Formats: sequence, structure tokens, C-alpha cells
Amino acid sequence: MTELEKDCLFCKIIRGEIPSYTVFENDDVKAFLDISQVTKGHTLIIPKKHLVNFFDYSQEDAARFLQYIPVVAQAIKESDPTIKGLNVEVNNGEIAGQVVMHSHIHLIPRRSENDPIS
Ligand code: C5P
Repeated sequence: MTELEKDCLFCKIIRGEIPSYTVFENDDVKAFLDISQVTKGHTLIIPKKHLVNFFDYSQEDAARFLQYIPVVAQAIKESDPTIKGLNVEVNNGEIAGQVVMHSHIHLIPRRSENDPIS
């Protein structure tokens, strides 16, 4: 394990050193509830490989990890009949609002037009 992986918040979540509520998990990715819950069910999908953001992805990484976005989106929608839609958001780089420097994809359920915007 690299020093970066040792200290990385989301690597710690993957290793179970920090508790999280898992929504979906396999050898490639983990999806868990975001602590901020912009709306109920707000989920993050992260690759188990430590990639900083999309600028760090090879084409193979993209094919391997991003295929799970619709899988998790469908699972979230099916878990709650009040969910009418869902935003998929990715912040790449500090200037774009990225705070945690381990790639993650936000899935934010939408139930009404008055739902808060992240
Ligand atoms: O895209 P950005 O880097 O801003 O998002 C980081 C996300 O990680 C935030 O939505 C924050 O609530 C979430 N987070 C978390 N668990 C932590 C620390 C941050 O779900 N322990």
C-alpha cells in the first residue's frame, strides 16, 4: 500500500477502517451513502483502485469502473418509489469543487423540484 492510500479517506472506507453504509460492492467498486445526504439516498460510487479523479483514468479504468453508474442508479431508484429522477455529478479538481482526492461519483436522488441542489 502506498502512503497516499494509507492516508486516503475513501481508501480507509474501502478497507473498513471508517464505517460506511454500503449500497453496492464488488471487486472493482464500492457505493455507499454520502454523509452529507444532499437528498435522502445520496450515494457515492468509488473505484477500489486509488484514482484521484477523471484526469487519472485510463480508457480501461473508465470502462471498468464507470459501467456501474447505471447499475447503482437503477438500484437506488428501485429502492424507493418516491424517487422520480437522479443527478449524477462529478467534481474533478479543487477548482471544480472536489474536496476528497479519491475519485467519486455523486448519485443524488430527486423527488421534487424543491429538493436542495448540492
Ligand atoms: O465531490 P466532493 O469531493 O466535494 O465530495 C466529497 C463528498 O464526500 C462530500 O459530499 C462529503 O459529504 C463526502 N464525505 C463522506 N464521508 C466522509 C467524508 C466526506 O461521505 N467521511
